[in-house]
Amino acid sequence: MIEGFQHPNGTHVILVGDTYPKRETIKRHGGVWDANRRAWVIPMTSIIELNFIGIGYKLECRVAAHCHESEGTAYVYFEDVVRGETKLGCGMCDTPKSCGQQVPVLEVLDIELYNAAQCLIAQQG
Ligand SMILES: [Zn+2]
Repeated sequence: MIEGFQHPNGTHVILVGDTYPKRETIKRHGGVWDANRRAWVIPMTSIIELNFIGIGYKLECRVAAHCHESEGTAYVYFEDVVRGETKLGCGMCDTPKSCGQQVPVLEVLDIELYNAAQCLIAQQG
């Protein structure tokens, strides 16, 4: 599983997870190895061509209060952002199983990656 996060510069995506088998493909599409992050960094414009390697995008979002947690931020899979809610546990109950609730996504903070991922949906029809 490869996960993609918006780079702080807003124009690139950070790929983490099981990237090793795909490294040549990632490199071919403009990927650069970031030794400090121990992750690949790709131009955001490359995510359409790289979609076939199966990247799960996680966006920083503002999420509603839930269980023992007050309103705050969390990384939410793009698919959940589109649905408008995501399953979250909390620090008090320790395990997501004990209190995992569907929590409304209030606002997407990683707007650039959100817009780019929307293009992926448009491409798929
Ligand atoms: Zn809880």
